[in-house]
Amino acid sequence: IAKQTGKNNYHLFDIAQGTAIYTQRKCIDDIKTALNENEFVLHYQPKVNMRSGEIIGAEALIRWEHPTKGRIPPLDFLPAIEGHVISLDIGEWVIESALKQILEWRKVGVNLSVSVNISAYQLQQNNFSDCLAALLAAYPDIDPSCLELEILETSALQDTAQVSQTMKTCQDLGVNFALDDFGTGYSSLTYLKQLPAHMIKIDQSFVRDMLEDKDDLAIVSGVVGLAKTFQREVIAEGVETPEHGLALLELGCELAQGYGIARPMEANDIPKWIVNWKSSEKWLKP
Ligand code: C2E
Ligand code: MG
Ligand code: MG
Ligand code: MG
Repeated sequence: IAKQTGKNNYHLFDIAQGTAIYTQRKCIDDIKTALNENEFVLHYQPKVNMRSGEIIGAEALIRWEHPTKGRIPPLDFLPAIEGHVISLDIGEWVIESALKQILEWRKVGVNLSVSVNISAYQLQQNNFSDCLAALLAAYPDIDPSCLELEILETSALQDTAQVSQTMKTCQDLGVNFALDDFGTGYSSLTYLKQLPAHMIKIDQSFVRDMLEDKDDLAIVSGVVGLAKTFQREVIAEGVETPEHGLALLELGCELAQGYGIARPMEANDIPKWIVNWKSSEKWLKP
């Protein structure tokens, strides 16, 4: 048991170490409770144009504020429930919460587009576009173009034709798509060709080392070129320093997200951050 791994196991610890074993079952029960008790929260990380300084939106990132364990990051609980219906409940909660947040910000004069992460499993549900349409209909004051969906684990997409059709239906509602963590999975290029996403997000693993590693630099450069060729927008994730930013601008990538610009923060901190960002010197002025 101690050596079992894989997505069906939650927080597996070695029995020999005397620690508890959480099964997926236990995780699912905990998460059901957490949803009912409102223990999930979305933090938001701004995305900007490094050349113009324009704030182009913010990505919603889920956290679990556990009553006894403290804040749990998404990759410590989402993988354990991937493929289970409870992950669909969470997915819906995330979209609805993001829509509510758009309205909350609007009350304080902030107009911001939001992107949310969508798992491959979620996107492949037959009723995905119907669900999305229903959610959007419940918030008629929100222009659907304020919502972007970031598709995760594209390599777990089974029927690309079907997914592509779903995406088109959602796009007809006005929603945009981005391919998240681009370049890390298998067949990224096939997905780029077949899926109608308006944006590519260069995975942070390539961006992180692009200043030291020629291969990563070549990959980033190549992805930016591909984006141009396919007429997609491109954004770099994991931009931690101005040096990264300058190198990206040199390659023709103007959009960025990363700790160097802003860390993910509570929704209530976003308005203040925007004021500071606008009043400060632009992050980069090449
Ligand atoms: P992602 O969608 O690629 O999100 C970017 C992750 O990188 C976030 O981690 C963010 O905090 C982190 N990050 C941003 N800038 C930097 C940087 O400059 N340096 C470094 N080292 N990291 C940076 P987080 O919030 O822990 O989320 C991790 C992953 O969990 C996300 O990766 C996404 O795949 C998944 N996730 C997060 N929220 C949701 C959600 O609501 N639904 C689903 N299905 N997945 C989610
Ligand atoms: Mg994302
Ligand atoms: Mg990513
Ligand atoms: Mg990631």
